[in-house]
Amino acid sequence: MTPVETIIWEEISQKGAIGVDRYMELCLSHPQHGYYMTRDPFGASGDFTTAPEISQMFGEMIGLWVAQVWNDMGRPRAFDLIELGPGRGTLMKDVLRVVSKVPGFLDAANVALVETSPILKATQNATLQDHKVAWSDSIDGFGGRPGIWLANEFFDALPVRQFQKIGDVWMERVVKTDNRTLVYGLAKTEADGLNLAEPDGTVLERAEAGMRLMGKIGQSIEASHGAALIFDYGDVEGRGTTLQAVRNHESVDIFDAPGEADLTAHVQFSDLAASAQPCHSSLTTQGQFLKALGIEKRAADLQAKGGRSVQEALHRLTAREEMGSLFKVMAVTHRNAPKPLGF
Ligand code: SAH
Repeated sequence: MTPVETIIWEEISQKGAIGVDRYMELCLSHPQHGYYMTRDPFGASGDFTTAPEISQMFGEMIGLWVAQVWNDMGRPRAFDLIELGPGRGTLMKDVLRVVSKVPGFLDAANVALVETSPILKATQNATLQDHKVAWSDSIDGFGGRPGIWLANEFFDALPVRQFQKIGDVWMERVVKTDNRTLVYGLAKTEADGLNLAEPDGTVLERAEAGMRLMGKIGQSIEASHGAALIFDYGDVEGRGTTLQAVRNHESVDIFDAPGEADLTAHVQFSDLAASAQPCHSSLTTQGQFLKALGIEKRAADLQAKGGRSVQEALHRLTAREEMGSLFKVMAVTHRNAPKPLGF
């Protein structure tokens, strides 16, 4: 048994079956043994590779976007540039290289990283050693002044709840023990807002933690201005469940080795957009966004300078059969702000 599995068995034996959201939270974020707390999961030797780790071009395009937003905001002289779940810190490093060329930007920016993993904080510290950055465990404490918020593959790591319509009632899918294994079960639920008109058997996933977070960011943008740019794989709207586990670049059962595999769920962008209201949300695919920001030109320039594997990286980031269309980008802006770049 993995350490997280032992903790889950204890919790179930004391309190009964646990929600899928609690299962995900323990696997990923248990303070000592959670997946992100104990390892750096990125790259060829890890479990998965993310866009900023594929090429510097990804962060550079986001840097251009950030500079434009700051300009559109009227170049405030004090604002927060906040990244949620920054992994190795590579995205922020590439963003800062671009925005440091914009006069006044770095003097005005308070750069903050929201990260819970001590191992990844240390990696981020090393990556960003030439920059002044601050760390925080949560977004509490931000939002009182203009903020530019960035997140890549962050929302997919936040816990989801799952529900199933059985006859004419909704039940919550839970995790329970059966003999010597963990299995799905069903329990009564107090959750509200579930549509009773859905047919028997319908299964739904709801990312309540992500929606609450998005709500807070939306309130901040509404009150203090700023913008958010969120990249993740997912759908505009969806039915069914998408929770999945990945270990060593391979898909595994979600109950295999709890705490040792990455767990993610597709992001439902319609839910995030609704949570951010009355702010305006714009949505496109990662491929279209990066092309609109000029990634092809940047790739040609890098290649002319002798950059290696540039076309391969461009393809992985933008092609429809790679990350280009499964990955979406959502910008959240103030109702009265100009249309953000790239949408
Ligand atoms: N953005 C990075 C890493 C994505 S992985 C990249 O694209 O490479 C998810 C990141 O979110 C990790 O850094 C993980 O430690 C962090 N994370 C997960 N849950 C979190 C939470 N509840 N609060 C803050 N950070 C969290």
